[in-house]
Amino acid sequence: MGAILTQNTAWSNVERALAALKAQRLLTPARLAAIPPARLARLIRPSGTYRVKAWRLGAFLAYLEECYRGSLRLMTSIPLGSLRRELLAVPGIGPETADSILLYALGRPVFVVDAYTRRVLARHRLVRHGAGYEEIRGLFERSLPSDPRLFNEYHALLVAVGKQYCRRRPRCEECPLRFDLRGKPPRQ
Ligand code: SF4
Repeated sequence: MGAILTQNTAWSNVERALAALKAQRLLTPARLAAIPPARLARLIRPSGTYRVKAWRLGAFLAYLEECYRGSLRLMTSIPLGSLRRELLAVPGIGPETADSILLYALGRPVFVVDAYTRRVLARHRLVRHGAGYEEIRGLFERSLPSDPRLFNEYHALLVAVGKQYCRRRPRCEECPLRFDLRGKPPRQ
């Protein structure tokens, strides 16, 4: 749910939408799938673009029901590559959303790449400007042990650095990653 609701919005807005669903005791696939799309859209309104997101949630829930009888648990036995391809074929699910589901909901070893990750890596000359999602994901997955807990923590730390320091105007002087610039200015 969170992986879809967080598309193009801050997590604080997602939390408000999730709280509204929780208050109505709707945070299960079966209950969500049973309510009319208009009601779902109203409840997730705080997450922004709520009609599109209600439609995307509906598409995901239909896939979950059709392929896994509505159970995320049944997904855990599917090989990672096949499962990722399946998720990417669900309308409204792109690489970041698919990988968030794989890592956070299913505990699979996939590195999630977001705007903060791209910005930090580009400024540190670890990838070229405009590097694609798969290129960056591949770099992390080749360079780190294939451990979901490590990927989870690493991504969370990149988000924290991005929010606090690596903003549109970088605050390198205060940033814990300034050592890695080795005296050079961040690449613009
Ligand atoms: S040192 Fe500067 S460029 Fe590097 S992550 Fe921190 S703020 Fe961004």
